[in-house]
Amino acid sequence: MEWETVIGLEVHAQLATKTKIFSGAAIAYGAAPNTQACAIDLGLPGVLPVLNKACVSMAIKFGLSTQCAIAPRSVFARKNYFYPDLPKGYQISQFELPIVHGGKLDVQQEDGSIKTIGITRAHLEEDAGKSLHEDFHGMSGIDFNRTGTPLLEIVSEPDMRCAKEAVAYLKALHALVTYLEICDGNMQEGSFRCDANVSVRPKGQKEFGTRTETKNVNSFRFVERAINYEVERQIQVLESGGTINQETLLFDAAKGETRPMRSKEEANDYRYFPDPDLLPVIIEQQQIDSIQQTMPELPWEKQHRFQQQYGLSQYDANVLISNKALSEYFETTLEQTDSDAKLVANWIMGDLAAFLNKNNLSIEESPVSAENLAGLIKRISDNTISGKIAKTVFEAMWQGEGDADTVIEKHGLKQITDDSAIVAIIDQVIAESPQQLEQYRAGKDKLFGYFVGQVMKKTQGKANPKQVNELLRKKL
Ligand code: ADP
Ligand code: MG
Repeated sequence: MEWETVIGLEVHAQLATKTKIFSGAAIAYGAAPNTQACAIDLGLPGVLPVLNKACVSMAIKFGLSTQCAIAPRSVFARKNYFYPDLPKGYQISQFELPIVHGGKLDVQQEDGSIKTIGITRAHLEEDAGKSLHEDFHGMSGIDFNRTGTPLLEIVSEPDMRCAKEAVAYLKALHALVTYLEICDGNMQEGSFRCDANVSVRPKGQKEFGTRTETKNVNSFRFVERAINYEVERQIQVLESGGTINQETLLFDAAKGETRPMRSKEEANDYRYFPDPDLLPVIIEQQQIDSIQQTMPELPWEKQHRFQQQYGLSQYDANVLISNKALSEYFETTLEQTDSDAKLVANWIMGDLAAFLNKNNLSIEESPVSAENLAGLIKRISDNTISGKIAKTVFEAMWQGEGDADTVIEKHGLKQITDDSAIVAIIDQVIAESPQQLEQYRAGKDKLFGYFVGQVMKKTQGKANPKQVNELLRKKL
């Protein structure tokens, strides 16, 4: 039997505010445990939450960018459950009336085609604290710093049909929230994490199969692996006559498999009810209009501009805009060179990306700044160095030897462009290779490469390759 996969994602984006959603406590990452939780976050008696307005503006920004409806009136609700890291015994979230609903996101797939994914809703909620099970022997530690951290939960329609589509959507969403500057997108720190809902159904069947939900996957690679694992597992269960339990799973990255965490709860298990401590959120059209005025350039707008303004291919433009910092690095580099965009794009997507990857660094951490890369590319364009030598210079810059001019000077890497100097070396090579010369003149054209190689070797790769070719042809 042929199976079809169905995927819907719930993404938690931590909002890039200074303080918590209902209190003035800071949300800086990495603070010592329990130093950033105040009486409100801890749910002490007699305190009241007050909504952080910045969260509302951020949700509106998101809604506008995804063509969602923005609710003129939305309501906070209490989601009741017990857990040691949830001091109030409930999480403040939104349930029946989310701040934003009914939008869509166009997602470019690997082959360049566009697939539109429905956005069911996005609602504001607070994060819970953290239970630390590994740090203490025979005990769990609780860190309340994260308690009350603002989240935007973005729920998609079950529109994706394979893991790759899900990852493409997730990447597009990640780019969007970072362009909007409503989330720093740091996945290692958990600022952008995803629950993957996965089911399978016989191809052609209309009804969806029973889904499982794999919680809190925090890397693109893990999402892909978790979904693929889950699809295989479900198909195996169904083909051997079993049924899928609607349950909540954890992805064990080390083992590469999902395992049960708890059976799936239903909404009514949570006894949702409107939070009596908080007023409904009222949004006037005027506020939406003024936020609309401040909308930044969005990823797909930037991609379109890169293609139009710089003549980049759809593929190159898509890679460069996929990360806001990368797109800015590209434009800064380009502005400082007189070169064409393609050369700059090639350097960034080629050598620089390879070095960053190898060293597991982000573009923000690149030891070669945009200014320094521009300096290098300038020296290629003005023929001071060849493209090949440029790779050596780049490596030296990466190692911290200074800017391109410093490296070129220090290692004597300047290209030899003086015809007479090149001719002198050619003469030397010809004199040293009488046999090859004879064979070449007898018609063995392949040997041309040998002569080029010898000249380059004698000049340590510094002779201008184009001139070497021209002059050699004449001489031979
Ligand atoms: P909950 O909040 O209980 O997890 P929701 O109804 O909000 O439930 O759905 C959560 C996510 O599950 C949504 O992203 C939705 O698209 C997805 N989803 C719903 N049904 C299925 C299904 N049968 N297979 C895959 N995903 C599904
Ligand atoms: Mg869910």
